[in-house]
Amino acid sequence: MSTIERVELAMVDLVPRVRRTDAIQSFVSQETPLVRLFDSDGLEGVGYSYTIGAGGSSVMALLLDHLAPQLPGRDPAHIESIWRDLKFSTNATTVGVITALALAAIDTALWDLKCRRAGLPLHVVAGGAKDRVGLYTTEGGWLHLEQDTLVEDALAAQAAGFGGAKIKVGKPGAAQDVERIMALRDAVGPAWELMVDANQAFTVDEAIRRARCFEPANLAWLEEPLPADDLSGHVRLSGATTVPIATGESIYSIGHFREFMQRGACSVVQVDVARVGGITPWLKVAHTAESFNLPVCPHFLMELHVSLVCAVPNGRWLEYIPQLDEITQQPLQIDNGQALAPREPGLGIAWDWEQIKRRRINAHTAVIGQGG
Ligand code: MG
Repeated sequence: MSTIERVELAMVDLVPRVRRTDAIQSFVSQETPLVRLFDSDGLEGVGYSYTIGAGGSSVMALLLDHLAPQLPGRDPAHIESIWRDLKFSTNATTVGVITALALAAIDTALWDLKCRRAGLPLHVVAGGAKDRVGLYTTEGGWLHLEQDTLVEDALAAQAAGFGGAKIKVGKPGAAQDVERIMALRDAVGPAWELMVDANQAFTVDEAIRRARCFEPANLAWLEEPLPADDLSGHVRLSGATTVPIATGESIYSIGHFREFMQRGACSVVQVDVARVGGITPWLKVAHTAESFNLPVCPHFLMELHVSLVCAVPNGRWLEYIPQLDEITQQPLQIDNGQALAPREPGLGIAWDWEQIKRRRINAHTAVIGQGG
C-alpha cells in the first residue's frame, strides 16, 4: 500500500480572452485552485477546481485549514473512503458549492494518481465508452454580443465541424430573444443544433412563455430557465413545452440530481465535475442519468469533462469554452469538430508548472506533509 506523503496547494487566476456575459452575471476570471499529491511510491496526482471570479480564496481556506491536512498517511487508492471522510468532516458546510469545489480539487487529484498508477487514461479507467465526442460552442454566444456577431461565430463553428452552438437568452423582451434565435436558425439551417441558456433568469410563467416562443427553432435544449433549486417549477415547465429542459451546473449533490430526474424535471443532465465535488460523484450522477435514459452534457471544464463524457455511454455533447491554455502545454485536441479524449495516463492535462509557479497567488500557496 502506498500513502500520501505531501500535498501542494496553489491557485492561479485565469482571465478569459473574450468577454463573457449572461442574464445574471459576468465571468470575470477563472480562479483555479490546484491540488498536487505525492505518494510514497513516487507517484503524483494533480487535481483542480474553479470559480468564475468569486469564492476562490474560501475554497483555498477550506483546503488548507480543514481538508488537505487529513490526506497525509492515507492510501490514495481508497478514493470513496477519503471522499466520505472529507465530506463528513465538513458536513455542516454541505450541500454547498464552496465545499464541493474544495472536495473536487482533491478528488480529481486522487483520480489522476489512480489512472497514472494504472498507466491508463481517465476515459478508460472511468468506463471506456468511446474516445471522442461532439463539440458545441458557447464562446460566441454571450448575451452582450450583437446578432450579426452571433451569426458570424455560429457559421464559423459550423464550418469548423462543430455540431452546434449555444447562445445566452434573457434579453428584457421575449421578442428580442426570439429574433436572435431565429436569425441563427435561418443562418445555420435546420439540421445543426442550437442550444439556449437563461442562467436561471426567469419565473416559471415567463419560462413557459419564452419556451413556447422558442419551439419553432427546434432547439436541442433550454438551459437553466429557472432558479436551480426550483424543482417543482422545472417539473411544471418540462410538462408545458416541447423544448428539452437542461439543468445541473448549479446542483451540488447526487441526491438533488436524483430528485430532478425522478420527477421528470429535466431532459438533459449538466453535472459539473467541480461543482458536484469531483469525479467520484460525477460518475454516480452520470450513471443515474443513464438509468433514466437521459443524456449527460456537462457544464464548462472541457479539458477534464472530455474524458468523463467519453467514459460513459450517455455522454452526448462537450461544451467548448477554452480556459486552461495559459497554464497547459497542449490544448484540447479537436478533430473535425470532435473532441478527442486524451490518451496519456491520468487526466491527460499537460500542466505547465513554470507558468503555474509564475502566476500562482502567494497567499494561497502551501505545502502540507513531508517537505512542508
Ligand atoms: Mg449554463
